[in-house]
Amino acid sequence: MRENDKVEAIIAEAIGWRRHIHANPELGFAEHETAAFVAAKLKEFGLAVHTDVSATAVVATLTKGSGSKAIALRAELDALPIKEATGVDYASRKDGVMHACGHDGHAAVLLGAAKLLAGSESFNGTVVFVFQPAEEVLGGGRKLIEDGLIERFPVDQVFALHNWPGLPEGHIGVKPGPQMAAVDDFEIIFRGSGCHAAMPHLGDDPLLAAASFVTAIQRLVSRSVDPLSPGVLSVTEIHGGRFNNFVPGEVKVEGTCRFYERALSDHCAAEIERVAEACALMHGGRAELTYKRGYPPVVNPAQGAALAALAGADTVGAERVLTEFQPSMGCEDFAFLLQGVGDGAYVWIGAGDVGPGAGLHGDRFVFNDAIVPIGIRFFVNTVQRALPVGG
Ligand SMILES: [Zn+2]
Ligand SMILES: [Zn+2]
Repeated sequence: MRENDKVEAIIAEAIGWRRHIHANPELGFAEHETAAFVAAKLKEFGLAVHTDVSATAVVATLTKGSGSKAIALRAELDALPIKEATGVDYASRKDGVMHACGHDGHAAVLLGAAKLLAGSESFNGTVVFVFQPAEEVLGGGRKLIEDGLIERFPVDQVFALHNWPGLPEGHIGVKPGPQMAAVDDFEIIFRGSGCHAAMPHLGDDPLLAAASFVTAIQRLVSRSVDPLSPGVLSVTEIHGGRFNNFVPGEVKVEGTCRFYERALSDHCAAEIERVAEACALMHGGRAELTYKRGYPPVVNPAQGAALAALAGADTVGAERVLTEFQPSMGCEDFAFLLQGVGDGAYVWIGAGDVGPGAGLHGDRFVFNDAIVPIGIRFFVNTVQRALPVGG
């Protein structure tokens, strides 16, 4: 019996794990029960399980044959601070916490692949199963790398999948090059000396500096970045002032930048600082920039993307594997793992059309359980392609 024929037998079980994790969501770096559940399952399957690698991460290894090649497969453990409004019978039991990105599904899919691979001799080498904490915002992937994941579990390639609403069910999307954007955030405090609104000549007006900045910084994307390199900058918050008759001494401006080229992170930091200082100077005040580097872009190396596309073709047929499409402006901290390992791929598993409020991070998001077997097959096929018997 081929390994993939065994998937049918564990679909119901894997959906059960998914719904258990869904009903008991935990926020980033606090996934204690989820991690314990995952670790117990992996031990039951006979894997070597490590829970001392990084925060609440669970890392498990499985070796077959004598091959020296190794790959890692990643899933996420964390949920979001969202109040669930799906009405499903396995809905979140924790008020204000919800698996709205499908990480419950990804964890169940990776557990399913671990169970099947543990009982098979269909590959030659080592598979490292990485269940990471805090993918959303907090950078659990960055911490995994800082805590030495790759030194302790060296691998040649790393792969991850994400359910993708809007991509038809039964389709898989993986492309060489950028697939997810980088995100950086910025905060600028414009300072002046506050004064009476009727006597503005007695002070400096940081509101004018902030207003100038909001318009002037639009040059960053339109005039300082190659038009063929996509990028977006949005100013999203302005705070300052309390009284109608007083010019405030301080105004805070916040915003975010998204792009696909790693070098743009340094460029945005330098350009935002330059423009902010110029605007402050023009109005007689000062500007203080805090530039926060978020997740780098997910850029699939050609080799990893090609292997994932072949594994995708094994899973859903070559005609249903998309390799040319527009990348997402969303971000993903798998970028740190991919950057650290140097090869591998990030893959979208089509989840079909969803209604308003039911997309990723929506409070009516429901993970499409029909793609659980597709995800399991994809991971198993990736392992068999990357670590072939006799290879
Ligand atoms: Zn998410
Ligand atoms: Zn996600």
